[in-house]
Amino acid sequence: MKLSRILSNLNGISRSQANFLIASGRVTVNAAPCREPASEVDRFAQVRVDGETIQAGEPAHYLMLHKPAGYLSATLDDTHKTVLDLIAPALRPELHIAGRLDRASTGLLILTNDGQWSRQLTEPRIKIPKVYLVTTANPISPDTAIRFAEGIWFEFEQLTTSPAQLEILAPREARITIYEGRYHQVKRMFHAVGNRVTALHRESMGNIRLDEKLAAGEHRPLNSEEIGHLR
Ligand code: URA
Repeated sequence: MKLSRILSNLNGISRSQANFLIASGRVTVNAAPCREPASEVDRFAQVRVDGETIQAGEPAHYLMLHKPAGYLSATLDDTHKTVLDLIAPALRPELHIAGRLDRASTGLLILTNDGQWSRQLTEPRIKIPKVYLVTTANPISPDTAIRFAEGIWFEFEQLTTSPAQLEILAPREARITIYEGRYHQVKRMFHAVGNRVTALHRESMGNIRLDEKLAAGEHRPLNSEEIGHLR
């Protein structure tokens, strides 16, 4: 919401009075003066006028979870365990998942209550690289890397995937970097070249790498550098 709107909404003052207060440097956002009435201010920011708090700012949560196999990337399910079962109950209602993993997949999963921030990770047009270790049923043919770099046609969505990089590590193992996060994307790409994924582990999303210190099932808050690189 625009800063001028927050002021006029909360205090019942006119928009022009709000603009005047802001322009004269009497309004701070997260303790720094903000003189631009049109600044976008989210619900996590603290806003003060002459030192008086008019928006306290809700706590923002950003977590990385080492997702184990067997947990659904969902917030609620009647039959299966969900990744939220691995998070403290008090935080659960707040969180959503920024980029799901299939039930059998493992690795980096990010949970947050900041929708504006998480959209940057998940919007296909923003093209944040997502890196996965893949194990396949059949040996990976050398031309797979070329096919993935050209893009794979997805009939259902009527689109070609963005060029992806494939590094073959062993006959049935590779590291793949994709730039979208479409439904079962990696599995469908391998299926399109006549292979089958038997294990999938996400190592990173953008500059956020799965912390090696986290055992499967454990999580930790993102640090300011990890959060900040999407701002
Ligand atoms: N692609 C898949 O096929 N599955 C995942 O869990 C993530 C990406």
